[in-house]
Amino acid sequence: MDAKALTRSITVAIEDLAQETDQARISETLQRYLEMLSKFHHYSWHNQLLIWIQSPQATQVAGYRTWKQKFKRQVKRGENGIAILAPCMYRPKNQAKTLEEEDPDLQSSPLASSCEEPESAHSNLTFRVVHVFDVAQTEGDPLPECPEWRDQEKDTELENALLTFAKKKGIQVERTGDLGGPEGMSSGGKIHLLHTTGTRTLVHELAHELFEHSKPEVHSLSTAQQREVEADAAAYVVCHHFGLKSASTPNYLALWQASGKDILASLERVRGIAVEIIQEVDRFTQPRERKEETWQPTVAEPWMSLACINLDTLSS
Ligand SMILES: [Zn+2]
Repeated sequence: MDAKALTRSITVAIEDLAQETDQARISETLQRYLEMLSKFHHYSWHNQLLIWIQSPQATQVAGYRTWKQKFKRQVKRGENGIAILAPCMYRPKNQAKTLEEEDPDLQSSPLASSCEEPESAHSNLTFRVVHVFDVAQTEGDPLPECPEWRDQEKDTELENALLTFAKKKGIQVERTGDLGGPEGMSSGGKIHLLHTTGTRTLVHELAHELFEHSKPEVHSLSTAQQREVEADAAAYVVCHHFGLKSASTPNYLALWQASGKDILASLERVRGIAVEIIQEVDRFTQPRERKEETWQPTVAEPWMSLACINLDTLSS
């Protein structure tokens, strides 16, 4: 394929991805899932750390009353809560606590999710231990399912070519059994991937490396959403070029709340990195049948069953 045809093919793929992502954004399943996420309290970083230390497998955490009132789920008998610190204010001894104060999720104070405390509150502010519970410790109405955002299809020949390319660029790639939620991670010269994850994740993390997203000067000038759009759009284009499905990319980008417009805004940067990967991989692989002649936009499919996740745990 000559350079002009490759450029055209990549542009069409990104335009298709933009449409598919907009379709995924308006799906009822995604809307229900995001609505559910909005009901969870966003814990401060030190409480997130406390939760992780006590229950590293925890995925969705809330207080006893929040589970009961917002999700119609009950904490199972005998379950021990996860201890966190909730901010509270001094008050006269004769003033009784309300029921809401026993559940940190029902407090509307911004102090619960921020380290920035109003100066006037300092003299009256203190912390106390309260307990929250992971979804696995509860039972009741099912939570809305998360749209499928992973792809596990593997192409050994393509992966070998990508690994050769990574080595040439001085990027180490290691497989591991657990990353605490994500399918892969890139940290500036080093990529970690789950054993089970598909080739798309390798391309995604490789794209992060080529975009130099972990460099402070690049990181500080971009949002997490922009970085994920660039990495996964590049992965989508490369996978489709080599005939590999990347069916979950629209869901992944929709979960990051990216729109078709956001994707098209990254077209030039994505195309540059995609061309680099495709041309390098071509040097290490046998000629194979290309996808462009039978290109069919992948319509976002009905969501498949998958355990619910936090956005924070999406492949980074
Ligand atoms: Zn990523």
